[in-house]
Amino acid sequence: MIIKPPSEPSSTREAMSSSHGRCRRIATEEAFAVPTWLDAMSGLSVDGSEANEVRFLRFVQSIGEWRQGLIDFDHRLKIMDDCGVDMHLLSLTTPGVQSFAPDQATAIARAVNDELAGIVARYPGRFAGLATVAPQQPLAAAAELERAITTLGLNGLLINSYTNDEYLDLPKFDPILAAASSLGAPLYLHPRTPGPSMVKPYAAHGLIGALWGFAADAGLHAMRLIMGGAFDRHPELQVVLGHMGEAIPFWFWRIDNMYNKYNSLGAGPAIGIKPLKRLPSEYFKTNISITTSGVNSHEHLRFAMNLLGADRIMFAIDFPYESSEESVRFLDTAPITPEERHSIYHLNAERLFKIKPAL
Ligand code: MN
Repeated sequence: MIIKPPSEPSSTREAMSSSHGRCRRIATEEAFAVPTWLDAMSGLSVDGSEANEVRFLRFVQSIGEWRQGLIDFDHRLKIMDDCGVDMHLLSLTTPGVQSFAPDQATAIARAVNDELAGIVARYPGRFAGLATVAPQQPLAAAAELERAITTLGLNGLLINSYTNDEYLDLPKFDPILAAASSLGAPLYLHPRTPGPSMVKPYAAHGLIGALWGFAADAGLHAMRLIMGGAFDRHPELQVVLGHMGEAIPFWFWRIDNMYNKYNSLGAGPAIGIKPLKRLPSEYFKTNISITTSGVNSHEHLRFAMNLLGADRIMFAIDFPYESSEESVRFLDTAPITPEERHSIYHLNAERLFKIKPAL
């Protein structure tokens, strides 16, 4: 990894900041990679159960701009300064350690978290970090999360959807949700390509990736948490979804309507609906926050704000896969109040991820 001290703010950065009263900009879904992890990923088979992820990663590595963005922190800081982005909340790029054998995954998660804490310490004020854990070993994952939050000072955790075709609503993963809840560590539920039992119909026409398959799978995962009662078991658990909520807010009315209808018809048990304490959308509005990653559209921001309010939406770029310049321009020019812009650019992230406010 190439690391040197942060550069001085450029004049561009000052100009862009001062036009909005020096509104701090924290981007909350920003991918990185380290050689330890890259080496391990390159050792995975392209024919095994993780074939889709291995192929996806090789594609990412083949795009020089993305590869450099993931591993070169000088390059990253220059782009941040040029675009007036003050802080990246870093997370290990998809699929994290979730493609590895259990022992290897747990060991690499630990090493990556140590490296991440080092990066955060090396550039004061420029980075915060989400821990990587290995859901393959739920108890070890919970212990590593506690170490990452209490010892390393990281700000939450990120899990890339399913692990070995299994989703976090299953009882075996409950120690991870319990630890996140009791530590006050937000769980960023990030996409990956649809899993082995889901992928077949998504494998055609480019639907497997960020164009559609990522949201189909990540949205399904969040719905499994809600409908599986995860937030009744852990009322304090806070989850974050990227990409304007992985399309779930669009479906709020229909989800609640059908939940009520199936239950009033007595059909709930027949189709596997468990009784919940509240309506499905109500959990979303109290236990889930969303980010703007990869959705630089004023219409969609307005729609999300109407349903969730400005306090549950955070700025994100999805660096290096999306343009920092375009993402900043999108939120700078959004037709919202200065107070709403402050909330989305930094206040919500500071509160949820316990990021120290700027001086
Ligand atoms: Mn992402």
